[in-house]
Amino acid sequence: MTAHTLDELLAEGVRGRHVLVRSDLNVPLDGSTVTDDGRVRASLPVIAKLAEAGARVIVMAHLGRPKGIPDEKYSLRPAVDRLAELAGFPVRLANDVVGPSAQELAAALGDGEVLVLENVRFDARETSKVDAERQEFARELADLTGQNGAYVDDAFGAVHRKHASVYDIASLLPSYLGELVRAEVEVLRRLTEGAERPYVVVLGGSKVSDKLAVIDNLIGKADRLLVGGGMLFTFLAAQGHEVGSSLLEADQIGTVQDYLERATAAGTEFVLPTDVVVASKFAADADHEVASADAIEGTAFAEAGIGLDIGPETAAAFAKEIAAAKTVFWNGPMGVFEFPAFAAGTKAVAQALADATTAGALTVVGGGDSAAAVRTLGFADSQFGHISTGGGASLEYLEGKELPGLTALGA
Ligand code: ADP
Ligand code: MG
Repeated sequence: MTAHTLDELLAEGVRGRHVLVRSDLNVPLDGSTVTDDGRVRASLPVIAKLAEAGARVIVMAHLGRPKGIPDEKYSLRPAVDRLAELAGFPVRLANDVVGPSAQELAAALGDGEVLVLENVRFDARETSKVDAERQEFARELADLTGQNGAYVDDAFGAVHRKHASVYDIASLLPSYLGELVRAEVEVLRRLTEGAERPYVVVLGGSKVSDKLAVIDNLIGKADRLLVGGGMLFTFLAAQGHEVGSSLLEADQIGTVQDYLERATAAGTEFVLPTDVVVASKFAADADHEVASADAIEGTAFAEAGIGLDIGPETAAAFAKEIAAAKTVFWNGPMGVFEFPAFAAGTKAVAQALADATTAGALTVVGGGDSAAAVRTLGFADSQFGHISTGGGASLEYLEGKELPGLTALGA
C-alpha cells in the first residue's frame, strides 16, 4: 500500500490546520435512537487523535439514502450526539453540508475542535454520476479547509462508492488513509491472499442478487460455502424443492444452478440447509414449526408458509463446519433475527464463530445487519477476530473489485 497514512499526517503536524475526515456514521436508527453505535465507536479514534493533535476537524458522513435534498429523517444529529457522548468533548453539527452554517462553523473552529457537516447526501452532487457535478461539490467541501487543509478517508463503509466525499475530494487535498480503513483492508487481504484452510464462508441476509457476485468469486477460493438467510430459498428452489411463500428470486435460479454445478469441480462445497423454521406469516408472533428443507409446503401452513430461519439440524451442521475452519468470513444473518423467535440460527452461527475465535481461527463478520445482529444477540466485539464496518465494501473487496475510495488514495 503506497497511500499516505494518518501517522504521516500527524508527523507532518496538524495543529491549526483544517482536516476533513470522511467517517462512516451510517448507524441504524429507531426513530432518533441509535440502535447499534458500532460505526460511531469505530470512527472515534481517528477523530480524537486529530483533535488531540490540535487539528480543526471537519467530519463528513452520510446516513441512509436521502434523495439529494435535506430530510430531517436522515439528519446526522443522533449519530453526532452519540459521538460527543463517547468522545467526552463537544462536537458541533452544521445545519447544512457546504452552506452558510458549515462555512461559518468551519471558519470559527479552534485548534482541537470538531465539527460534523450535515449528511453529505443532502446534496445531490455527492452521488452524481456526472463527474463535473461531483467535482464541484468536492471543491466546495475542500474550500471549507481554507489554506493548508488535508483529507483523511476513514470511512471503510463507503470506499466502494465513487462519491464526491470519498473519491473526488482526494484529488483536491493532500490525502491520507485513516486507521480504520487501513485495518479493514489488512484483514480483508488476509481473506483473499492465502487464507488459512479450511476457509469457510457463511452467507445469509435477504437478497441473493446482492451476494451473487461474491459467491461467484469465492467458488474455487473457499473450501465451504454455507448458505442461510433469505437467499437459501433460491438455492433450495435450484435443487428442485418447493419453498412456499418464502423469499425467492426466481430469476436467479439458473445462475444458482450454474454455481452449484461449477463448485464441485472447483473444490468448493456448498453446504445447504437440511431443515428450516417455517412461519404462518412474516411477524414476530407468527406460529411456526421446523420443516425438512424438502418439505416446506408440508407444514400446517402449506403453501402460505414462510421460511424465517434455518432449522436446528442445519444450525448444528453449520457450527460443526465453522469449528473445523481456520478462517471464517460471515455475511448476512441466518434468519429474521429481529424477531426473537427466528434468531436461533443467527445466534448459533455467531456462537460458533466466537468459539472458533477462541480456538485460534481468524473470524470476520461483515455487513451492517450482521454486525448489528451479533451485538443485539449479546456478543461482544472481542469475541470475533474482526467486525467489518462495511458490508457492501467488504463484499466488493472479496469480489475482487476495484474500490474507488482506495484507488483515489493510491491504496
Ligand atoms: P448485511 O447487512 O449483514 O449484509 P443483509 O442486508 O443482506 O445483511 O440482510 C439482512 C436482513 O436479512 C435482516 O434484516 C434479516 O431479517 C433478513 N433475513 C434473513 N433471513 C431472512 C428470511 N428467511 N426471510 C426474510 N428476510 C430474512
Ligand atoms: Mg443490510
